[in-house]
Amino acid sequence: MRRTYCFKLYKNKRNRHLHDQIDLASQIYNHCIALHKRYYRRSGKHISLYTMQKHIAKLKKLQKYQSWRVLDAQAIQNISERIEHGYQLFFRNLKAESRRRVAPPSFRKRIKYKSITLKQTGYKLLYDNRIRIGKRTFRYFKSQEIEGRIKTLTIKRDALGDIYLYFSCELPDVQPTRIMTGKIAGFDFGLKTFLVASDGKQIEMPLFYRQGQRKLAQAQRRVSSKKRGSNNRKKAVRQLARVHKKIANQRKDWHFKKAKELSDEYDFLFFEDLNLVGMKALWGRKVSDLGFWSFMQILGHMTAKAGSRIGTVGRYFPSTKLCSSCGFLNDKLDLRVRSWACDCGVSHDRDRNAAINILLEGASSSGLGDVRRVLAPAVAV
Ligand SMILES: [Zn+2]
Repeated sequence: MRRTYCFKLYKNKRNRHLHDQIDLASQIYNHCIALHKRYYRRSGKHISLYTMQKHIAKLKKLQKYQSWRVLDAQAIQNISERIEHGYQLFFRNLKAESRRRVAPPSFRKRIKYKSITLKQTGYKLLYDNRIRIGKRTFRYFKSQEIEGRIKTLTIKRDALGDIYLYFSCELPDVQPTRIMTGKIAGFDFGLKTFLVASDGKQIEMPLFYRQGQRKLAQAQRRVSSKKRGSNNRKKAVRQLARVHKKIANQRKDWHFKKAKELSDEYDFLFFEDLNLVGMKALWGRKVSDLGFWSFMQILGHMTAKAGSRIGTVGRYFPSTKLCSSCGFLNDKLDLRVRSWACDCGVSHDRDRNAAINILLEGASSSGLGDVRRVLAPAVAV
């Protein structure tokens, strides 16, 4: 089992050395991208990870690139690994002819470059909350003990210039002991109600969400009202980043809380395979603010811990258009329609009906058999 610990570094002048290292990493990153592009233009071929790493090792020995030696060798290796990973994704996507196109890795501005990753070398944990990175010692807010074996340390900066340490650790697998609740449900994401379950449970959007959006819009307006390049604008940009960060943190906490609740309550949870591109087309960019995707990631962790399971239903399954009672496909259903009555006599709440369909479809394709009978009383309401 993998677990990641995140700690914030104390603010200190010394932190600028870490910023320098991340800047240097971005320089090397862009150098590698340029090589890839040039090589491809000339030969139509991709540089393998091995060749690239050998080449970088050679460059490091040259006078011209001696500044690169400041960065830990494994951190440099990691840069070419990241690029390779990006290319592999790109190639796989080309082959799959998927609907969503993935672009190959490309140049990145210095300020958009956020992190470096170290493996076993280049740092050492010292007593208390101290860590040595390279030749310098830093202190971090140690909110908990690190358990397991540390596989990587990622040093990451955010838009406010704060630096965070992410320790990715390998822990022995613990089989969760679960007392089954006997509850299974399908869930449907929505704009107004975050989640609607097939058994009628609803998870409303938290209040802070709307307040946050208002503050965000305010901060955004303040930025655009200031003159480009002015100090006031810089200040406003930082303020905006601060608001962003606060909202992101609140949302994450809330996601964790809800994910824990759900994974404790239900043995088996079914969701629709998220089609964020389609959702955005339908609902506008608000979708990304709600963080459905990150919620699913968190729920994945939580269910693994709680011993419950998640199942998904294909994204082309017409969950909203089917009558969950008789199976009639209501092709004329409009997006704005919140409730409708089927000719079979059953009236449906749009989201609840979708959640029930997701459960029926998910359960039958996960070998749980037909759960229609169990649900019958609920559906008939
Ligand atoms: Zn019907």
